[in-house]
Amino acid sequence: MRRRALLTLLAAATVLAASSTVPAASNPAQTASGTAPAASSPAPRERSAEIAALQTALWNRGVYRGDVNGLMTPGTLRAVMRLQSAAGLVPDGVVGPLTRPLFGRLRGPVLGARLLRRGQVGADVAELQFLLSVHGFPCAHFDGRMGEHTVAALRRFQRFAGLPVSGQAGSRTQSALADPPPQAPAGVLDWPVVADVSSYFGPRGRGFHPGIDLAVGSGTPVKAAAEGEVVFTGPGAGYGLLVEVAHDGGLTSLYAHLSRIDVVVGERIETGGQVGLSGATGKVTGPHLHFELRLRGAAVDPLPALR
Ligand SMILES: [Zn+2]
Repeated sequence: MRRRALLTLLAAATVLAASSTVPAASNPAQTASGTAPAASSPAPRERSAEIAALQTALWNRGVYRGDVNGLMTPGTLRAVMRLQSAAGLVPDGVVGPLTRPLFGRLRGPVLGARLLRRGQVGADVAELQFLLSVHGFPCAHFDGRMGEHTVAALRRFQRFAGLPVSGQAGSRTQSALADPPPQAPAGVLDWPVVADVSSYFGPRGRGFHPGIDLAVGSGTPVKAAAEGEVVFTGPGAGYGLLVEVAHDGGLTSLYAHLSRIDVVVGERIETGGQVGLSGATGKVTGPHLHFELRLRGAAVDPLPALR
């Protein structure tokens, strides 16, 4: 399972490496203006958020249905070319001054150009939504609009980062989002079930999957990944029947879509203790275990933490 995850990461890294050379050629009119991707491109993380904003704009225009993942994938490039063709432009895949207006309200600006507040719309909001998700505070979905879910995610991030909880993203918030995302300590958890990973942590469509899905049928015993205290049991929005366990070091683990819960809030549980049975409650298309790990409230990839 871990080897599969590594291969996925390597594939993603390869796509990212390829992306830095993809749009460099063609359309002289756009390149001449200096807005086409240049040799002195910004840092990889900023660049990723900009590509995520581009993918969000393509989603909004109905020409892209892939993951909003911040990578200039072939599918992203094809979507740009589709939009260009439909507008009678040369389909060269370059996002320059002729192409950018086709993105409507997501044609700009870049993140950092203004203070972001509730109700605003733009490419910078889409960048913010992507960065919040990558840092463990996913919004409902990426749409480039500072709606209720985005403001709520922003406030949670600000609390996490020790910033004033304003629900507005200024320079301090934006610079905190330039820091590397939080990561779980390696190898501290047991697998809650023995099963293949059917869906990984990260971008999924225009949203973000904050945990991993483990392919088990209904009725499989689900074990606590480490010792801790049960801090929540019951139905959770989208999660169905959910158990949350708090561990040392600010970590909590979540076990979702259960068919039965076998613990109560306040109970101490040992590593491997049974929290319930797997199932298909909540927002699912079939039975599986959704396993989520949070570090001081931020969703982190559970895979490196599993031993
Ligand atoms: Zn899931």
